[in-house]
Amino acid sequence: MSSRPNILFIMTDDHASQAMSCYGSRVNTTPNLDRIADEGVRFDHCYVTNSICTPSRATILTGTHNHVNRVTTLATHIDNRLPNVAKHLRAGGYQTAIIGKWHLGQGPRHWPTGFDFWSVLPGQGIYHDPVFYEMGERIVEPGYVTDVTTDKCLKWLDDRDREKPFFLMCHHKAPHRPWDPKPEHRSLYTDPIPTPDSYDDDYRNRARAAGEAHMRIASDMTYDDLDLVQLPESPGYTLGMGSHRFIPHPADDELAGFSLRCRNTGELFTFKTQAELKRFKYQRYMQKYLQCVHSVDENVGRLLDYLDEHGLRDNTLVIYTSDQGFYLGEHGWFDKRFIYEESFRMPFLVRYPGVAEGGTSCDAMVSNVDFAQTFLDVAGLPQPNYMQGRSITPLLEGAVPDDWTDLAYHRYWMNQDSVHNAYAHYGIRTHDYKLIYWYNDDCGEEGANPGSGPPEWELFDLRDDPLELCNVYHDPEYAEAVKIMTTKLEAEMLRIGDTPMHELQGAG
Ligand code: CA
Repeated sequence: MSSRPNILFIMTDDHASQAMSCYGSRVNTTPNLDRIADEGVRFDHCYVTNSICTPSRATILTGTHNHVNRVTTLATHIDNRLPNVAKHLRAGGYQTAIIGKWHLGQGPRHWPTGFDFWSVLPGQGIYHDPVFYEMGERIVEPGYVTDVTTDKCLKWLDDRDREKPFFLMCHHKAPHRPWDPKPEHRSLYTDPIPTPDSYDDDYRNRARAAGEAHMRIASDMTYDDLDLVQLPESPGYTLGMGSHRFIPHPADDELAGFSLRCRNTGELFTFKTQAELKRFKYQRYMQKYLQCVHSVDENVGRLLDYLDEHGLRDNTLVIYTSDQGFYLGEHGWFDKRFIYEESFRMPFLVRYPGVAEGGTSCDAMVSNVDFAQTFLDVAGLPQPNYMQGRSITPLLEGAVPDDWTDLAYHRYWMNQDSVHNAYAHYGIRTHDYKLIYWYNDDCGEEGANPGSGPPEWELFDLRDDPLELCNVYHDPEYAEAVKIMTTKLEAEMLRIGDTPMHELQGAG
């Protein structure tokens, strides 16, 4: 067996750290994810460079920001002729595989390259009896997607060449919308689930983006998302409404007799107030989401058990992360996209026996652009100078280098997408502040629309306002903080080569 460590990279889709007990979840327990934290390092400030699926995956694979890899939106796909970390690892003697969600495009120019074996879900994939494209061939795998993805990883581990170290990317579809749990898990999480502190946010004292976004559980989450059907005799019923149309709720005084029926069980629910209905939708959303997470946790346990049983534990770096965070009722929302904390922050657990001390946490700023160089560093391979992150191995060893970055950068390129109406923006976060520039322009990018009005700045004082409810950008008391943060933002954009829209728009 090679002395170089194996790398097992487990990534889910839209799994927020608020739904992991090792991150202090108030809504569920995740004993197997907690095993990684107990035996490894929990990173408390890991951030995504662009809080949506496709761009995050491109950054992880290439070690570059989205303006460099050109995968800026959901509509832009990776050019698989570009170099990526799997190609470097493979050339360096690793056996490489990716199994599960890909979401970087399909076809000869977009399928995975650099992998000895690949078997990926087309597009978002589906939860039950999923289709996979395996080395280009379409196959249907019976079963529940999280189980099937793990089964395929275990089989690949069994079949692998044991003379080489391995790099395995296990990419789960779960818990992405539409939340469709395994039938055996549909009775879990029935107790009332507590709402987060910013659940009843009124979006005042903020730039326009928060109030304009169509991400509210109350008004933008469809009944179809929740396996519910609105009864035709109910007030507010809209004839011909599609399953993905947003359904306006009647006002409180028109709500008498408002009823929803569960599509699966036939159970009937009635409501007297908007608040009751909003609370009910949150409860249903969280139940389904957490049931999907439950299967993820079980299957992470199966992978960890395999490593234990096959003598691989001590020579395998294990990572658990998600392509970005997610709103679980914070600000009244579901979904992601924004630099606001809950969707910006990624869960990031690393178990590295013999190097990282178990049961520890790390406060240093890291991001998904650091992952590729970390893999190469761990493998003892050179880190190409086109990559834009930094290996986190010093942090795993328990030391934060003096010149380690004090910030994380985010840019969301889509503007006013047709479903969620999220505005284009960029910004940085330090431990104390978050500065955001809403440039509200499509920059000619595919998948985006102009027309969301003049740009705006936001500054949040994260020490006093960790929930990010009050923009202090225009408060004279924060003039110095604005100046410092703007200088940091401009230096970071210069360092990575991204375009400072605020200078182009004259809003510097
Ligand atoms: Ca995602």
